[in-house]
Formats: sequence, C-alpha cells, structure tokens
Amino acid sequence: MKTYKVWGVLVATAISLALAQPGTAGDTAAAGDTASARAYVGVSLIDGTGTPLQHDMGVLIQGDRITEVLPSLQLKARLPEGAKLVDASGHYLLPGLIDTHVHMATVPNREQAEAYMRRYLYSGITSVRDMAGDMRALAELARKSRLGKIPAPDLYYSALMAGPSFFDDPRPGMAAEGETPGAVPWMQAITSQTDMEEAVALARGTWATGIKIYANLPYAQVRRITKEGHRQGIKVWAHSMVFPAYPSEVVGAGVDVISHACRLAFEIAGVRPDEYHHKVALDFDALDTRSPVLGGIFEQMKNQGTVLDATLWLYANREQRENEKPKDKRSAGICPSAVAGAMTHFAYENGVDVSVGTDGMVPYDAEYPALFDELEVLAAKADMPPLQVIRSATYVGAKVLGLEDERGTIEPGKRADLIFLSKNPLEDMANMRSVVLTVKAGTDYPREAYTPITKTELGEIN
Ligand SMILES: [Zn+2]
Repeated sequence: MKTYKVWGVLVATAISLALAQPGTAGDTAAAGDTASARAYVGVSLIDGTGTPLQHDMGVLIQGDRITEVLPSLQLKARLPEGAKLVDASGHYLLPGLIDTHVHMATVPNREQAEAYMRRYLYSGITSVRDMAGDMRALAELARKSRLGKIPAPDLYYSALMAGPSFFDDPRPGMAAEGETPGAVPWMQAITSQTDMEEAVALARGTWATGIKIYANLPYAQVRRITKEGHRQGIKVWAHSMVFPAYPSEVVGAGVDVISHACRLAFEIAGVRPDEYHHKVALDFDALDTRSPVLGGIFEQMKNQGTVLDATLWLYANREQRENEKPKDKRSAGICPSAVAGAMTHFAYENGVDVSVGTDGMVPYDAEYPALFDELEVLAAKADMPPLQVIRSATYVGAKVLGLEDERGTIEPGKRADLIFLSKNPLEDMANMRSVVLTVKAGTDYPREAYTPITKTELGEIN
C-alpha cells in the first residue's frame, strides 16, 4: 500500500504553524504515542452524538485513538511535546461513516470487493456491516482490512439463518459454492428440530459479529435463535418481515436490528405470505403509513433499543428505474420511496434509531458510494434533520455493530475514525460529498490519493 504524506492546504498550513511555534512539529518527535500525535484545530465539529455543530474546536489524536476534544485555544495550551499542530480551519470534522447493509461476497470476487471497499474508505466510510455472503471470502477481506493490507473500512459480517425452503434461492447456493447450501456454518437452515446451542456456536465460529435471520421462519424459531444468540453474546439482525413471522413478532422476539422499511407494510396491510418467494404485490397507495399497528411496533423498538436499518435508497433507486420505463412496462407492487420514507419518518418521530444501510451499489464510475445517496434520501424522504442523519450514519451504525463504546462519535478514548469535509453538511446533505481526508484508526487516507475504480477491476461477473 502506498503511503501519502501530502494533504494539500492543511499540511502546508500545518508546516507554517509548526515553524512558527517551537515545541510542536519543528522539534524532534517524542518517543511513544506522541510520535504520531497530531492536533487538528480550528475545525467545525459535528461529533456524531446529535450535539449541534461546535465552532473552532480541536481534536488530538495519539496512535489510533482520539485523546482530547477541546476548544482550539485550550487544546493548543496543553499540546503534548512533539505533537504536530494542524490548522484545519474552514473544515468540518465528523466521525467516520458506517454503512450497515453491504454485500461484499454474495459471489466472491476479491478484486471487485477490494475496489468497492477502496471507494468506501476514501469517501469516509470506516466500518461496514456485511449482511450475508460467502464467509470464506469475507473473512479474508476482514483480515486484510484490519491489518491495513488494503485501503478499506473494517468489515463485520453475519452468519445467515433461514427456513430450509429459502435455500432454493440461487444466492445462498452461490455463497456456499462447493458445499451444501443451508448446511454450512455461515448459512444454516433452521427447523424446530435444530440444536440451537450448536447452531449459534457454529455461527460464532465463523467469527461473524451477528446472526442474520433472513426468511421463511415462524415466530417460534425467530425467538429461539434470538434468545440463544443473546445468551451466547452475539447480535441478532433480521429482516423486518421474515415470512411468515410478522414485523411485530420479529421485534417481539427481541432482535437488535430490523432491515428494510417497506416490509413493515405487510403487517399494516394484514398480508402474511408463508414464504419470502411468494410474490405478493401490496396496495401501497392504500397503506396507512401512520397506522397504530406501526406505532406499536416503533414503541417497542424504542423501548428495547431495536434499530431500523431502513435502506431507503434501495426503494428510491428502484422507483427511479421503473419511472424511466414506458408506463405499460412498469412492474406492479413497487414500494414508493414516499411510503418507505413516511414509515421511516414515523419511526424516527417515535424515537427509534435509524441506521444508514444501502444494500446496493451505485455504478463503478460514480465518485461516491451509495451511502451518500442514502443520506440524501433519509433527509429528503424521511424528513430527518441533517444532524440526525449524520448521527444515524455514525453513532447508530456503531451501535448496530455493538461498537458504540469504541466508534461512532468524536470523544476521548474512541478510535480515531474521522472525516474532514470542505463544505457544511448541515446546510445541504449533498455537501457530504466534499471529503478531503479520511482517518481510519489514526491512519490518513487523503481523498486526493483515491484511485477511481476501473472497469477491469470488476472482473467478468459485471
Ligand atoms: Zn441485503
């Protein structure tokens, strides 16, 4: 991996400041942690907790940690010996972003996954949650990223559980190629006969961070998985509708996160297909997006801390592609982004934490990944204030991964996962697309060092 030491204007400013101030970077660096210590001062701080923007703040990084967060003047007065002072005035400082719904290895393709992960990191995404794929490939990506062998966010993956009938779907087949779909530790078929203690132990043995409950399971099994998962200390993530288990049952089972806002509609409409593959078109126009049924689900989610992984861009993107077709060629039953947005807004209004997950990719030659579209859709369609959208993409993402003590906000003791923007995202979410620098675990990844994805890197499957 190349290392880049140049960071445009900020470095130049830092050097002039350092020269003007004996005792900072001009001196010989002190041994130990302070050798890599640097203080960014003059930033406009959005710390990820939902606290309003704070002007003229300073943040000290030592090694891979944030050690001080103070007003610039105070930080300058207590700078450790050897620490480099960087004047970052005019920049907006946020925690590293977290995408809570990616798929990096449904069909393993290492070169392609590394290319997409490179775009994630240089765009400010420092952690991602992979929602099921081939663990054999995911584990390697996770390892290389963690060790800094590839420029990529930290990758956390899940072990899938579903009813036996789900494994006719081609995707689990591809993600278990060479083995029997449903009979591998990272994708297990579950029945009432399953030895759940063993199934959860097998899932944990893949080094997955969470179990993903996908489909074709009744409430009793969703509950059994969740109870045993929690007993063994692993997160349990589920689709909002598990077919036949309803959203209220999935939430009632005590899962930690539910994915896909639109699937909440099945319960409002009172439609309960037995299996995921039973295609049922809902009448979305007739749907009451503020139904008391939904209100009850959100009340329980708030009380037990269940997160909604809304994936709104997925719906907005599908809707846009449908609208580009001639009217008679459009598919029926597509969930309108306005409906998905209204339900997500209702969740937000009820105090439910919403995370930022994408479950999809923008074209390889787009400058920024789909998470930036999701941020804009959350602001526009779910009518969430920009500060709350940013909290969703940082603190809530860390909570989803069970890493809220370690990531997701800019506070002393947390890992130094940071992004610097040149424009104010609170004025317009599109300004998130002004990343100048990503810091992951204390290492710099300047945007100007980003090599765009090339078509060759995508390989043959695209
Ligand atoms: Zn997914």
